Amino acid sequence: MQAMGRRAALQGLAGLGLGGLALSAGAGVASATTPVAPAVTQPATGVPTAAEALDLLVAGNRRWQEIHPEHPHEGAEIRRALVASQHPFATILSCVDSRVPPELVFDQGLGDLFTVRTAGEVLDEAVLGSVAFGAGELGIPLVLVLGHSSCGAVGAALDAVDAGEEAPGHLAYLVEAIAPSVPPQGPDRATRIAAAVDANVRAVVDTLRHDEDLAEAVSHGDLTIVGARYDLDSGAVTLL
Ligand SMILES: [Zn+2]
Repeated sequence: MQAMGRRAALQGLAGLGLGGLALSAGAGVASATTPVAPAVTQPATGVPTAAEALDLLVAGNRRWQEIHPEHPHEGAEIRRALVASQHPFATILSCVDSRVPPELVFDQGLGDLFTVRTAGEVLDEAVLGSVAFGAGELGIPLVLVLGHSSCGAVGAALDAVDAGEEAPGHLAYLVEAIAPSVPPQGPDRATRIAAAVDANVRAVVDTLRHDEDLAEAVSHGDLTIVGARYDLDSGAVTLL
């Protein structure tokens, strides 16, 4: 039922002229006065595979890196088309950091991404339920866990580990989750944070892959879960 609804909506998008065009980095340059056709970020027919979904994210991030974003799917037509239902092609679990908004760094628009954001991509029941909802109810084929350079949550965890103290208030929950990924030693603070960011992403990915609500879909190839790091300097997303 869900898959049929998704397919019908994707075909509806194709009917709006949103399907069938190829993405190319830098192709979306437009001046403020140029009417811009909605960028293509959804396959014309059928449910996208995880590989297709990842390709869309990679292409969008390339546009972002090159400062040629298309800002797709922001117009009235797509807004109306999505009133009845949503069919995002990827779940992005990312940090709350204001410098890493998924729709911008992947150059996507309304209805494209199912985003879940917590400091340091830390998991809890609400996050797991949200990711499971995206996979199970919306049929999203790809989950991308996105850490980033200079993550403040990871830095707080490192400081707590070094001080041997519990972080105050609700922050303690975040620190406790990230702390196992913090290397006990390293040449300097920045290097240790960078290592912890990657280790934390890998740990979250591993937990999701083995989660009781997700593991079966993963083992059947219906759900792909990958990790990545966003670099604040270059704007690049690197798969881990
Ligand atoms: Zn962060």
